[in-house]
Amino acid sequence: MSLYLKQLEQLVALQRVDHEIFAIHQELKEAPQEVEALEKRFNDLEAQRLRLLDKITHIKEQEKRLNFEIEEDAQRIKKRKSQMMTLENGRDYHAMAREMDNMEKVNRSREEEKVLLMEELTRQDTAFKELDETYQAVKADLEEKKNNLQARIDTANAALEDLNQRRLIASRDVPAPVFARYEFIRQRLDHPVIVAVKDGICSGCHIAIPPQAFIELQKGQQILSCPNCQRLIFWCEHFLNEAE
Ligand SMILES: [Zn+2]
Repeated sequence: MSLYLKQLEQLVALQRVDHEIFAIHQELKEAPQEVEALEKRFNDLEAQRLRLLDKITHIKEQEKRLNFEIEEDAQRIKKRKSQMMTLENGRDYHAMAREMDNMEKVNRSREEEKVLLMEELTRQDTAFKELDETYQAVKADLEEKKNNLQARIDTANAALEDLNQRRLIASRDVPAPVFARYEFIRQRLDHPVIVAVKDGICSGCHIAIPPQAFIELQKGQQILSCPNCQRLIFWCEHFLNEAE
């Protein structure tokens, strides 16, 4: 194997470790974010749920009040009716009849109000049941994720420790100047550092390599950089397995 290919192989091996380290760092960043996002969703649902419960309580109170008023007036009407029996067909009688008419009218409109109220109650109850289903599911999910978070972080940190060891070993094989270049790029650019050039295109920045540089790259004599993104590049034909 040529020195060039050997160096490439070492860099790619190093990058493979860095790729895993990168994924672990992502995991460490995302795990608490996932819980946080779920917590926010749960809090929103809980607030909505409480608002609905409030609404339902309020409707039930209104219903109770209406029932009470209807019952109260019904009693009053009954009482008046028996009083009217004792009256002659005079002025008092007519006044009382008018009053009773009014009371009956008010009670009828209360009954109508009650029907609307019960329809509203059914709507809110349905909305509550739907929301509560989501609420309970999110609640269970959140509890599970919260309980698992520390374990997830611990696992990731343990893996990271192992990977850092492996990185030390992998980087020992890379010649110092090449490693320095690799590190220089790694600290300044988004992952990854070393990328394949396929059909003349750098797979790091997706821009075409100038023809002269591409010819140089195909010769496979020294580690080159993409003139556009500065990432280390190799020709995919030199390293078929890694080109993906
Ligand atoms: Zn590039």
